[in-house]
Amino acid sequence: MAFMTTVGSVAMTKEKTQFYFPRDVLLIEIDRRCAQDECRQRNQISLTKAEAFEYRGFNCSECESWNDDRLNQSEVPESWDRASIH
Ligand SMILES: [Zn+2]
Repeated sequence: MAFMTTVGSVAMTKEKTQFYFPRDVLLIEIDRRCAQDECRQRNQISLTKAEAFEYRGFNCSECESWNDDRLNQSEVPESWDRASIH
């Protein structure tokens, strides 16, 4: 016995689909140079909002040494809660 699914009565009223484009910044990119004199590799670091709040430095992509770092307030989008970034 075939399962009859008649959906002919489904309302086909065209509802206006509203797309929501968040205006919030999702990712920031910062440019840092490795502090090691023999390295000085330029590092591009992408941070999400959550990562930015916890950002305390980065590992150099070249020599892998740790660089202590902080975000400047100017590097944080206004839409983010800057107060959360220390
Ligand atoms: Zn380095």
